[in-house]
Amino acid sequence: MNSKILRAIWIVAVSVFVASLIFILGISYSYFSSTQKVLLKNETELAAQGVALSGMDYFNGLSPEGYRITWIAKDGTVIYDNEADSNQMGNHLEREEVTEAMESGYGEAVRYSSTLAEVQLYSAKRLPDGSVLRLSVVQAAVWALLLGFAQPIGIVLIIAFLLSYFLASRLARKIVKPINEIDLSNPEQYYGEENYKEVEPLLRHISAQKKQLKKDQEQIEKNALIRQEFSANVSHELKSPLHAISGYAELLEQGMVKDEDIKPFAARIREESSRLTLLVEDIIDLTRLDTGGAEAKREACDLFKIAKNAADSLSHAASEMDVTVSVEGSSAPMEAVPQNMYSIVYNLCDNAIKYNRRGGSVKISVSQDSGSTTLSVSDTGIGIPQESLERIFERFYRVDKSRSKAAGGTGLGLSIVKHAVMIHGGTVEVKSTPGKGSEFIVNFFT
Ligand code: ADP
Repeated sequence: MNSKILRAIWIVAVSVFVASLIFILGISYSYFSSTQKVLLKNETELAAQGVALSGMDYFNGLSPEGYRITWIAKDGTVIYDNEADSNQMGNHLEREEVTEAMESGYGEAVRYSSTLAEVQLYSAKRLPDGSVLRLSVVQAAVWALLLGFAQPIGIVLIIAFLLSYFLASRLARKIVKPINEIDLSNPEQYYGEENYKEVEPLLRHISAQKKQLKKDQEQIEKNALIRQEFSANVSHELKSPLHAISGYAELLEQGMVKDEDIKPFAARIREESSRLTLLVEDIIDLTRLDTGGAEAKREACDLFKIAKNAADSLSHAASEMDVTVSVEGSSAPMEAVPQNMYSIVYNLCDNAIKYNRRGGSVKISVSQDSGSTTLSVSDTGIGIPQESLERIFERFYRVDKSRSKAAGGTGLGLSIVKHAVMIHGGTVEVKSTPGKGSEFIVNFFT
């Protein structure tokens, strides 16, 4: 950045300098040309006076360096020329400056000589006897002027280059310094500083991104911790039914069980294995939601129909508990992952039956308005104590562990519900009165 700014400043400085130099040279050239004309006129006047006084004698021993002097008689014949043989020269009456001098006393002309590839300045003065004295000189060319100035221009150029480089690098450093001094690990510190207001939006952006990154990092760490805890809990939960199964099997194997106890033992083994199955199923459900649950394909489905299906598959469990299940509402079409929707209704309804009282009831209702679809599962069961309401959605949390186990609970049902609802951008809330019953309300927004 430093070198880019330096280059930009330097290029600007040098271009401005060179442009000014060309401009000044142009002005000097025109000034120089007009001065040359004035000088030539003065010299012509002087020489004319000399010739008027001394005649031909004036030219004796004259060596006018750089000048050409021509004396032309009244009739146009050349009397004297310091550069050519006057006898060979043609009549000069037609020359512009000569004609003008004859008429008005003084004449001037500028002519380009293609043979000499030069511009000649002519100045002519009429003498008292009617003859004309003419002086001419080569007009100094731009390059000649440049050549004359070559040395000072060269020195000035070198000084200008060096000076502008020095100033540009100092300026570039000064421009970049406040930017280099920004503490990116703490960009807020820069806010309100007078240096560069323009960088503040960038810093705010960096700061916001840093905060977001920190949040993401914290979330990643939290997730890793949750997963770690989950694995530990899973192994713990799997261990107890497996121990029970292998314990009963061992007793049976050793023939240590009385004949009449064989049946209850076998029943315990079956119960423990079905608990294992439920647990494994729930773990699979949760893992599915955890890994790629958000990317699962959504399709058109009807929450009301799904609720009916879930209630149907739990009818056996309900009748065993002497609980009546009713489904209310009407068709509620939505874009969702049907499997997740089924898990939500199934787990809520399963709990409502499990934690109910004999002769109790469960009411599932589905409603829809323009902005949202609502599922409510209410029961007349044991309810949930206030202090547990916050925690029931945690993995493996149970209010009453033995009751949950006896009812075939895994402690994962509500965490599956919460996860599946979250993936669909919905919310879940619970209202409960211990001893009276609970209501779970799930909202999906369209
Ligand atoms: P579980 O498999 O133990 O039912 P859940 O995650 O589904 O696990 O529920 C967590 C705990 O919340 C349950 O153990 C239970 O104590 C309580 N709970 C859930 N639903 C109800 C309900 N409808 N009525 C009373 N308690 C409930």
